[in-house]
Amino acid sequence: MYYKAKETAMGNGEQYHVAAILRRKGRVVRIGTNSDKTHPRFMRKYRDGTWGCHMHAEMDVLRFAQPGDDIEVMRWIRSTGGLAMAKPCEHCQKHIIMSGIRRVTYTNEEGNWERLVR
Ligand SMILES: [Zn+2]
Repeated sequence: MYYKAKETAMGNGEQYHVAAILRRKGRVVRIGTNSDKTHPRFMRKYRDGTWGCHMHAEMDVLRFAQPGDDIEVMRWIRSTGGLAMAKPCEHCQKHIIMSGIRRVTYTNEEGNWERLVR
């Protein structure tokens, strides 16, 4: 059932292949992936003082999120097709909390699901 997420992530043309699945009451609302596209809501300042935005998969779906939704984040390695660590970065975590997401799970290095605790 995750084939579509994998297809989306593998086809994103980026170095990292991450997919985020937004669920509402268990049903998939949207599948997002990381990209070079920018979105003004998620502009961030980098340590060197420049502004930019690489949209992470989580941010891609957060635009459509409602409080109480769940998010699953997965990452694949192109060479092996296996799963990898997909823990949301601090920047995404902040936005996830602000959006009122109920439950966030992500794949770890072993390809197992972990739940984000805060
Ligand atoms: Zn992130």
